[in-house]
Amino acid sequence: MVKAIVGANWGDEGKGKITDMLGETSDIIVRFQGGANAGHTIINDYGKFALHTLPSGVFYNHTTSVIGNGVALNIPVLFEEIESIVSQGVPRPKILVSDRAQMVMPYHVLFDQYEEERLGKESFGSTKSGIAPFYSDKYAKIGFQVSELFDEESLKHKIHKVCETKNVLLEHLYHKPLLDEEELFQTLMEYRKMVEPYVCDVSLFLNQALKEGKEILLEGQLGSLKDPDHGIYPMVTSSSTLAGYGAIGAGIPPYEIKKIVTVVKAYSSAVGAGAFVSEIFGDEADELRKRGGDGGEFGATTGRPRRMGWFDVVATKYGCRLQGTTDVAFTVLDVLGYLDEIPVCVGYEIDGEVTTDFPTTNKLEKAKPVLEVLPGWKCDIRGITKYEDLPENCRKYVEFIEEKIGYPITLISNGPGRHEIIYRGFED
Ligand code: GDP
Repeated sequence: MVKAIVGANWGDEGKGKITDMLGETSDIIVRFQGGANAGHTIINDYGKFALHTLPSGVFYNHTTSVIGNGVALNIPVLFEEIESIVSQGVPRPKILVSDRAQMVMPYHVLFDQYEEERLGKESFGSTKSGIAPFYSDKYAKIGFQVSELFDEESLKHKIHKVCETKNVLLEHLYHKPLLDEEELFQTLMEYRKMVEPYVCDVSLFLNQALKEGKEILLEGQLGSLKDPDHGIYPMVTSSSTLAGYGAIGAGIPPYEIKKIVTVVKAYSSAVGAGAFVSEIFGDEADELRKRGGDGGEFGATTGRPRRMGWFDVVATKYGCRLQGTTDVAFTVLDVLGYLDEIPVCVGYEIDGEVTTDFPTTNKLEKAKPVLEVLPGWKCDIRGITKYEDLPENCRKYVEFIEEKIGYPITLISNGPGRHEIIYRGFED
């Protein structure tokens, strides 16, 4: 069976933890989109890790970790990550890299920096990992697949063609040093050495695994609201963050994805620019940021402080719908235990009208939150393993949100650890 683990919001919902947890009963864990621009924080028996490219299953001996064709593969980052976890005592993971995955080139990272620099105040707040230039090139059909590393003559020819156009931009738009074809070729030969042992026809491998009845997890990055089609365009990422894209980015039939576990955070946080209707500021935000996640809400890749807000029913209901949610995993609920009262954004007021349907970006910019206030539970809920044992106001909060978003909350996470989870009807 294939399960997808995806985010309903702006990312950082705790997908890494849920993947790590469900990885225990899985054979294969696949990354199907995105690149090293976001990260998962995982805490387990080996320690605390920030993963950017490796799937969260790398900590298990029994799982194979797969980089699907939909990923923006930064080969040196992948290999640094492998070496870093191995040096921290994790057994060397089994990894497969799709021969059709495209590579983030050194110039993608540079173009990302140069463009943000050029845009100045209008910049996207990119993590400057080269993701937008990478996907632009992929769809402009001048990207490089891993398989191309193994045909030196045509690789040289393509490098020549690509450098021609890139150098025009470097010279005249960005006024930066030009690319050197030979140097680029040598870099790619280094990449080839690093990646060669792992290259595989991933789609074929996964389809075979499905025939053998293996358990496969698809691990998404970021969340619905960062999807380039359905998110807060243009403040989105450059590859689809939706479970449906899992079929494409891994090369499996769409109907094989039987369970879509959408991870939803008990409050809101976002990194980067863009409309964020339920955002809070000042001391209120600082307090939640300080207590949030595990050791505070700061970006796993950039260390940037995350923007904070109350739970947003409108955005989450929409985010769950676009994912095709079968199960909601409701995370970081423990963090809210300090509040006397917990505001929840239950609607958006736009031009004097209240809606619960998530609007397009131009209208979103004008939306004001409609808040409803729920009583807090004023205690620490970590360590609780049964739903009935949660304080009444905490259960009321969960049930209120479940009813408003319209999708079943079958898992509740009440701590960062792998086993800090409350089952509420989830069937593995
Ligand atoms: P991801 O990208 O969706 O995997 O999310 P991140 O890893 O960026 O952020 C989630 C953060 O919250 C990490 O620091 C996790 O260790 C932490 N976390 C996940 N679930 C819980 C939870 O239930 N309670 C607490 N306190 N922290 C959690």
